[in-house]
This record gives sequence, C-alpha cells and structure tokens, in this order.
Amino acid sequence: MIDFRLTETDKALLERTRAEAVIARRYAHEFDENEAEMIPDTLPETEEFYANRSPAPTAGPEDTQGAVMMMLQTMGAFWGDYSVRVRRSDRGGLGNAALAAAGTDEQKEEWGNLMLSMAITEPGCGSDPSRVSTSAVLDEETDEWVINGEKIFVTTGIRATGVVIWATIDKSAGRAGIKSFLIEKGTPGFDVPHKEKKLGIRADDTAAYVFTDCRIPRTHLLGLDESIQQKNSGGFRGVMKTFNMTRPMTAAMGLGIAEAAIDLTREELVNAGIVLDYGVGPGGLGRTNAAAEKFMRLESIFEASRLTLLQCGWMAGEGLPNNLESSVCKAHAGSAVREITQGCIEILGTMGIARENLLEKWMRDSRITDIYEGTGEIQRLIIARGLLDYTRADLK
Ligand SMILES: Cc1cc2nc3c(=O)[nH]c(=O)nc-3n(C[C@H](O)[C@H](O)[C@H](O)COP(=O)(O)OP(=O)(O)OC[C@H]3O[C@@H](n4cnc5c(N)ncnc54)[C@H](O)[C@@H]3O)c2cc1C
Repeated sequence: MIDFRLTETDKALLERTRAEAVIARRYAHEFDENEAEMIPDTLPETEEFYANRSPAPTAGPEDTQGAVMMMLQTMGAFWGDYSVRVRRSDRGGLGNAALAAAGTDEQKEEWGNLMLSMAITEPGCGSDPSRVSTSAVLDEETDEWVINGEKIFVTTGIRATGVVIWATIDKSAGRAGIKSFLIEKGTPGFDVPHKEKKLGIRADDTAAYVFTDCRIPRTHLLGLDESIQQKNSGGFRGVMKTFNMTRPMTAAMGLGIAEAAIDLTREELVNAGIVLDYGVGPGGLGRTNAAAEKFMRLESIFEASRLTLLQCGWMAGEGLPNNLESSVCKAHAGSAVREITQGCIEILGTMGIARENLLEKWMRDSRITDIYEGTGEIQRLIIARGLLDYTRADLK
C-alpha cells in the first residue's frame, strides 16, 4: 500500500535539506545576474554549516521509501535555488546515471569518480535523438574510435570532467546504430567552444561541445556492445531507460521551484489579510476572495503534480516499470510549474515581476522542466503510445 505520510525521521531529513536550501537561496539572485561567472565550489557559510550540523538520522523500514525521499529531498533542495548548492558536488551529472545504467563493472570503476555530463542534442537533433549525426568510426589498426560532431546545450558541460555522448556507428542502421561513448575532458579533438546563455537557470553551466577527429580507446564504448540489432532497437531502448528515473527527478526540480513560488505567495496573501478558506466547499466560489480562490487552485495543481511524482518515485523504488508514469509526472509537472509560477506573478502583480524578488526568476528557471529530458509534447506522445498501444511508427 502506498502511504506518503512522513515519519519523524523523514521530517528530520527534510529539515536538513531545507537548512541548506535557505543558504543557497541567499546567493540565487547574485549568480542569476552574473551568468558568465561560475559559482564557487563552496560558499562562505559552508565550513561552519557542516561543522555544526547534527548527524543525519538513520531511516528504517518504517520510514518513507528511499526513492520517494529522493524526490522530496530534490524538491527541497530546488526550493532553495536551481543552481546554487552549499557545497557543489564534483560528481553526479546525467552521464553518471547512464554509466550506472549501462556501463560494465570495469567502466563504473574507472569512470565513476568523474563528473559526467550527457551530450545527446545537436544543432539538427533534439526531440528525436535517433537523428544523432555525430559519428564514431572504428580505426581497426589502432583499436580506437574516431569521433566527429557537435553537441549543444550540455548541462554541467563546463564543470564536468568527462562526458557520455551519443554517436552513430552506422547511420544507415538508424536508432540501432546509436551508441554511447565515454570521453574525458582534455582528450585531443574535444573542445568546449562556449557556455550557452539562457532565459532561466542562468547560473547553471550549459555548454557546447565540438569533436574533431577525437580519438578514444575502443573500450570507451559504454557497455562494450558493438553489435547493431537491425530488427529491434533493444540497445537504444536500454539507453532510453536512463530517463525513467531522471524524468521524475526533473519534475521534482521544477516542483521544488513551484513550491517556493507558492510559499512566497501564500505568505504575501496572509500578510495582506486575505483569508485562505479551504472549507468553503463546492459552489462557494462567490464567498471567497478572488485572489485566494486563484491561489487555492494553483495549490491544488501543485498537490496533484506532487502526488503523481511521488507515485512514480515509489514505483521506481519498488522495482516496478514506470516508463509511462515517468512521462506522466514529467508532462504534468512541466505545465503545472508554468501555470503556478505565472499564476503567482499574476496574484502578486508588480511584486511578482520585480527583479529584486525571486518570483520572476522562478518563472524563468522552472521553464526548463518542460524542455529537457524530453519536451511536454514528446512526453504526451510517449503517454499516448503507452496507453493506446500505438507503435512509434503509428504515432510520431
Ligand atoms: C538549459 C538546457 C539544458 C539542456 N541540457 C541537455 C543535456 O544535458 N544534454 C542534452 O543532450 N540535451 C540537453 N538539452 C537539450 C534538450 O534536451 C532539447 O532542447 C530538447 O530535447 C528539445 O529539443 P530541441 O530544442 O532540438 O527542439 P526540437 O526537437 O526542435 O522541437 C521544437 C518544438 O517542436 C516540438 N516537437 C518536436 N517533435 C514533435 C512531435 N513529434 N510532435 C509534437 N511536437 C514535437 C517540441 O516539443 C518543441 O516544442 C538542454 C536544453 C536546455 C534548454
């Protein structure tokens, strides 16, 4: 039975996350304004914060399942800020999730300590990754792959010390020819020409990569499977499974930002003397303040999205297939966070739009929820295929 009520241990763990988030938020505005600068690895508070922190309570079987807590803790961290952390981790990019899902034991051992970004998108290929045109050609004489191509919008692309890239070893084989490769920064032929400038999450380092005759050992093929399955796309699907946990995580990040907007708006409404009467009941809309009514609608959208996310995380934690639910929770969160942050701005008026407050930043930051890891439109295609049993050819 699913039960998302929090135990005392769960609450204590989430309070620890909140304490870090409060510090990170102090720097949110500064690093948004100074987009070109990298956030330092530590903030002035870091040392004292960790020195005085009490040990984390140990969760037991009676506490909330780990995958659900991971969603809640992600939300809690992003409630503070999207990009600023008290202590920046030097590992754990999206490429690390791919390594964990598809790497051999030797590769996990060798590459696990690097921070790996994940580079799929190219100037001519985004929503449909099977159109990847970066090529990997095997040079049998030297036992090396020769990589050529261009990647754009690579998250953590500057800080990452390595990357998992998607490249085709046989363009004529379509999706089946696409493989993932591990490449370390500093490898000759691997260049980082620029950091991308963006609408939101401006403090995040998003980079472009160029590969020109970049030679890597044959053993850097993730999973070491050089075969091309012509009849089905099993290999490709295996790589796509990486997204079954990262899509809910993306939803959790956006919902953390949306929760920040909701909390600020609630506080301002209460300060303005507006009563939030949750007991007004059906048909009672005329008896409540218009701003309060709009706010309560936004809260209900948030709650629906949060519960969808937690269910998806719970399924992952139980080892249940959650491909459909991953897309449902990402698609729902993607539109929910937009409606919530824009709705909060509408409720708060000039206060919502002023640069000195964070609400307008939260609207910009949360926009990414519906773009990367598959746009909302693509999630809805996946959902339709899953529910109606359409094939990719039937519905694309
Ligand atoms: C800040 C940021 C960070 C990113 N980080 C990474 C990263 O780390 N690694 C990486 O590889 N990529 C990353 N991306 C790229 C991201 O995954 C792509 O932007 C996304 O997949 C969409 O691709 P596209 O921009 O090429 O849009 P397109 O694919 O060109 O789509 C344009 C529009 O058409 C819609 N559309 C496309 N196909 C269909 C269809 N069949 N039916 C209906 N509508 C459709 C899309 O939803 C979208 O609205 C990042 C992007 C951003 C903005």
